Amino acid sequence: MDETPYVDYNDAIEEMRAREYPMLHGTTYLDHAGTTLYAKSLIERFSTDMISNLYGNPHSASNASQLTTRRIEDIRLRLLELFNADPQEFNVVFVANATAGIKLVMDAFRDQEEGFWYGYHRDAHTSLIGVREAASEHRCFSSDAEVNDWIEQQDKSHGRAGLFAYPAQSNMNGRRLPLGWPRRIRTNKNEGMYTLLDAAALVSTSPLDLGTLDETPDFTVLSLYKIFGFPDLGALIVRRASASIFDKRRYFGGGTVEMVVCLTEQWHAKKADSIHERLEDGTLPIHSIIALDTAMNVHRELYESLEHISTHTTFLAKKLYEGLSSLRHGNGTEVCHVYKDPSSTYGDPLTQGPIVAFNLRNECGGWVSNAEVEKLATVRNLQLRTGGLCNPGGVASSLGLAPWEMRDNFSAGQRCGNDNDIIRAKPTGMVRVSLGAMSTLKDVQLFVAFVHEFFVQDSQTSITSPTTTAQLEQPTQSRLHVESLSVYPIKSCAGFSVPPGAAWDVRPEGLAWDREWCLVHQGTGAALSQKRYPKMALIRPSIDLDEGVLRINLVGALREVAVVHEVTVPLSADPRLFNYEDTYKDANARVCGDTVRAKTYKSSEITSFFSQALGVACHLARFPAVSNENGSTRHSKAHLQKYQNASGIPMPGAFPVTIPMTPGGCVSKPILLSNESPILTISRSSLNRLNELIKAEGGKAAQAEVFRANIVVAENPDYPPGLEDPYAEDDWRYLQIGQQYFEMLGACRRCQMVCIDQQTAERNQEPFVTLSKTRRFDGRVYFGEHTCHLPVEDAVSQSVQNPTIAVGDAVRPFRDDDVHYDSRLHALVG
Ligand SMILES: *Cc1c(COP(=O)(O)O)cnc(C)c1O
Repeated sequence: MDETPYVDYNDAIEEMRAREYPMLHGTTYLDHAGTTLYAKSLIERFSTDMISNLYGNPHSASNASQLTTRRIEDIRLRLLELFNADPQEFNVVFVANATAGIKLVMDAFRDQEEGFWYGYHRDAHTSLIGVREAASEHRCFSSDAEVNDWIEQQDKSHGRAGLFAYPAQSNMNGRRLPLGWPRRIRTNKNEGMYTLLDAAALVSTSPLDLGTLDETPDFTVLSLYKIFGFPDLGALIVRRASASIFDKRRYFGGGTVEMVVCLTEQWHAKKADSIHERLEDGTLPIHSIIALDTAMNVHRELYESLEHISTHTTFLAKKLYEGLSSLRHGNGTEVCHVYKDPSSTYGDPLTQGPIVAFNLRNECGGWVSNAEVEKLATVRNLQLRTGGLCNPGGVASSLGLAPWEMRDNFSAGQRCGNDNDIIRAKPTGMVRVSLGAMSTLKDVQLFVAFVHEFFVQDSQTSITSPTTTAQLEQPTQSRLHVESLSVYPIKSCAGFSVPPGAAWDVRPEGLAWDREWCLVHQGTGAALSQKRYPKMALIRPSIDLDEGVLRINLVGALREVAVVHEVTVPLSADPRLFNYEDTYKDANARVCGDTVRAKTYKSSEITSFFSQALGVACHLARFPAVSNENGSTRHSKAHLQKYQNASGIPMPGAFPVTIPMTPGGCVSKPILLSNESPILTISRSSLNRLNELIKAEGGKAAQAEVFRANIVVAENPDYPPGLEDPYAEDDWRYLQIGQQYFEMLGACRRCQMVCIDQQTAERNQEPFVTLSKTRRFDGRVYFGEHTCHLPVEDAVSQSVQNPTIAVGDAVRPFRDDDVHYDSRLHALVG
């Protein structure tokens, strides 16, 4: 391709820019999708105009007023001309911004007696989405194909008006959507179906042609500051043939009414002439409208047409896209993950505008925080935008965030624009670079060079720490593996077995979803436990990540007493679900004597489900979410009350106990006083040994579930039998499970709760009796090991940012003195 004409135009812009945009000196402005910039000439001429003319309020007969009226009439006409719109067919309504235009349309539909149907495209700006709150029925179209299907469908006439809205260009990634929909909707759908085109992002760098009447949307909104930089004004362009929808509009204000009678006989006569007279309530932003005249003049002088701007910015965006997407780390991996729609092509102005949205990755594949990019961009005086970009549908689908994850992220403190932007190893926002009429090749090159300088890692030079560069290998030839993983979503209720093959998140506070909820007594606020309510074993929660719910079933004897056998609760900690006014607003649940802040659910359905099942008035409560303040994770879950440190420094309340091991040896380990810890690990060999002894005495063997373990480690069945090594765990200091490392915190002290049969909720004597005969040290009975994950400080790779383990993972134990055999572990624990 011969680039000469593009480069020549670029050079001309470069030269003009130095003169007309002095505010760009020394900075690189890459947020034209937020707003573009105004030219110096525009401001100068506008102030001259203001100083030399007397403009009055249009609603009177004075000369000053007439001057204003005349100017505004002309400007309306000129604005329509800019979009090739025939003034016989269209009318311009001035509004504060595009959002105000959308709301004006929404008001008209809301005032329809039968209500209205609202459909909007996934790529819609937040301001379009909000319309759904006024609709009697709404639908979000998740793809163009869905829209096409819907257009082809026969309409079941609801006898009510409908509005389909979409952006001409996504403000997130600049994708340009088909402009052919309004015509097809008009021909295929009932008369009551209208179209609203949000052209705010498109027209900033592209022409919009409203010249062919039957192809045009009924309503088009735009933001004039996004085209000219100034004035701060928006416009709603209404097709006259569709204006009758405004007839039912109820509100009137100064400017939109001919006569109003107050007091006894309440009556008013609305203006009936032009559409704008009926819709422009109050005094117009007259000075802004007058500035628009100058803005259009200067714009034409500097750029000639929106066509030229489109060609120029399309060329630049292609360069930017190619520059960013070709960046590679030293090890060959991608640096920039660009969120481009598969249907769009950089270089094609029909499908793609001059915006690139992306996230950066490090050489290990981990995501770079947006906050980090923003900080460095600020240092280099680059102006760009990061975060949710006011496009929730587009961002969520690009980032693969399920609705429950968004809610959960929200509850966990994630907000548009804060630092906490990588959650569960997924970015929660993106970086957006957008170009405008006065952008140049230099801006593009400078930005690509910036990313290269700060974010491209050349493997040879980036050895930051041994833990980050060491190969993350699965332990091979391991004798042990993970036989099962369980979590106990509701404290003291039945466990949930992690399905084989599922990579389960390991969090600082334990396995994901473990003891996230509890039941609290309505009278005392104390957390219920199986010790007092053995039937809790028959309340069986399960985690349904696809549906985003915690599903709770009643089993066994409980099915006979309860009417309702299942209830679901969203996994997200949606604040609306909880009691705030009630007695338990932020109930202080007492768990094992500790006071823990927990939030109770206000739904009476949930409360009665549990209360009836257990025969005790109780609430379901959720422990507050992890807050990531200051980068350190603090959690107020019950089992972390006495747990302060995950790095092996002796815990408060821990004391060394001597556990006799093999006949020959002893090992000294700290033991936790707290009855709970982040993760509990037990050994199948030890359980087998215990059960042999129980059976030898004629007792009933214990199931693994009674120990409420999270991880059951067993001998690998591929290894020859007879290699069992019961109670070897007493001697373990660390474990490698899959790619993760764990520290053993000490043996777990047991009570009679292990005697409750988890299938029937009946109390037995075993295994406590045999345990206390064989596993008693210092007057206390131990079985299983408290365990915690060893977190890595530098979050660089996927497996570090989002540690997971799975059933079947290989397990490799380390004793105190084998730590130095594994360089990664050695680096972790010093
Ligand atoms: C900027 C923008 C809006 C909102 O415009 P305001 O002038 O802030 O009301 C709406 N939709 C799209 C596509 C935008 O780019």
